[in-house]
Amino acid sequence: MAHEFNAIIVGAGPVGLTAAHALSNAGISFTVLERRERIEENIGATIVLWPHCIRVLAQLGLEAKLRTIGTELQKGSHQTHIQESFGIYPLTFARSDLVSLLYSSLSSPDQARILPNKKVTSITTEPESGSESAHSGRLKVTCSDGTTYYSTIIIGADGVHSAARKSMHKLSKTPPEPPFPASYRVMWFTFPRPSGVGQTSACEFHGKDMSFQLLNTTSASFALVDQLVPGPPDNKPAPGHVKYTQEDIEALAAQAGHLPVEEGVLEQWSWGGKIVLIGDAAHKITSNQGFGLNDGMIDVVALVNEVRQVLLNSSSAMPSEGALQQAFQKYQETRKEWVTKNMQTSGFTTRLSTVRNTLLWFLVRALFKIPGVDSFLINKMYNPVLNESGLVFEGFETEGEPFEGKVPWRHAVPKGGNN
Ligand SMILES: Cc1cc2nc3c(=O)[nH]c(=O)nc-3n(C[C@H](O)[C@H](O)[C@H](O)COP(=O)(O)OP(=O)(O)OC[C@H]3O[C@@H](n4cnc5c(N)ncnc54)[C@H](O)[C@@H]3O)c2cc1C
Repeated sequence: MAHEFNAIIVGAGPVGLTAAHALSNAGISFTVLERRERIEENIGATIVLWPHCIRVLAQLGLEAKLRTIGTELQKGSHQTHIQESFGIYPLTFARSDLVSLLYSSLSSPDQARILPNKKVTSITTEPESGSESAHSGRLKVTCSDGTTYYSTIIIGADGVHSAARKSMHKLSKTPPEPPFPASYRVMWFTFPRPSGVGQTSACEFHGKDMSFQLLNTTSASFALVDQLVPGPPDNKPAPGHVKYTQEDIEALAAQAGHLPVEEGVLEQWSWGGKIVLIGDAAHKITSNQGFGLNDGMIDVVALVNEVRQVLLNSSSAMPSEGALQQAFQKYQETRKEWVTKNMQTSGFTTRLSTVRNTLLWFLVRALFKIPGVDSFLINKMYNPVLNESGLVFEGFETEGEPFEGKVPWRHAVPKGGNN
């Protein structure tokens, strides 16, 4: 029996939920499988979204809601420059608020397609016997509770330790690519925003092998400490310099979130026109420039535009695997260079902030002290990323540009649908 084209998204993190919105808007049938018990959970740190991503979410009808839960990041002259260039300040969110918004703003039927408690454990192929379809077979997804789901394609949005990626390597019979290395780790604390600390303010301090950032939202503050992963431990503290006992430190750390900070871009992002990876499943970027999720959201735009085009061009309801494979490859080509650049820039900023060597010490202590130098460099770095890589959804019903500044957008938001 021939089946209808459908997608399974593995993972209901912020990238998976953005993909759910996009597929729903594109009229593509989907199911999301999420391993956590609840989709909306108060976990994770803070997220900054840059204008090009706010624009994409505006295309999905979410801008007004985003403004109610996000606060404008007005740190320093380069943020003002971004506002002047693109018409909006970057917005800062608690990650959990953003995930909640992405979930709750889906229609009730779409929310019903998002299934919690579904940890994907394996993906296999299932030949489609007797079918005249151009597609050789469906994918069978098995979850840890024994349930199974079937789909034409799988979109792996299941983060840095992606199960979809492992299955992709198994099915393609290629050796798994090595895990992304992590030279840094991050610890963060969330606490009620102290009175006197403005919600739009932010600050950061750079020190040897460590950096500190403070970001705020309407009600909460987030302190993030990035630290170089130490070599062999030398736990002998200098006398007189220790303010905490080891137990104090452990008790404090137990209240914090902490993670390794992997960095890497996968060589191959898809397999056989069947499995394709987006977000942290395909690339992992340090948090210092706030690119990770932003890049994941632009992945969604690039991928959904390609898949939608394949479906529009297909003479039957089930496009061929060859056409899907080409679409996945095109998606990778559109994104990989940008993501690699962003990973390198963000990695450099992490090393700069943690003053890794004498040259970087000079940059932080001397060059960046010259008024206007840091803004000049940051603008040189951000403007192309926000503008050139800022893709928009094709063919979605929209009212045109949600906001504009002095710099014309490279990829214009189409007015109305442009099928
Ligand atoms: C401290 C910190 C600060 C950051 N700040 C920023 C920032 O300011 N701006 C920015 O753009 N990025 C930032 N990032 C990066 C950003 O958080 C990530 O890039 C983003 O969360 C990736 O989203 P994702 O949906 O791809 O993956 P994830 O957020 O990892 O979500 C993956 C989802 O898949 C689910 N899952 C995993 N395995 C399975 C399975 N087997 N079956 C089913 N479900 C599964 C998980 O439960 C999860 O819900 C920051 C990261 C950190 C650590």
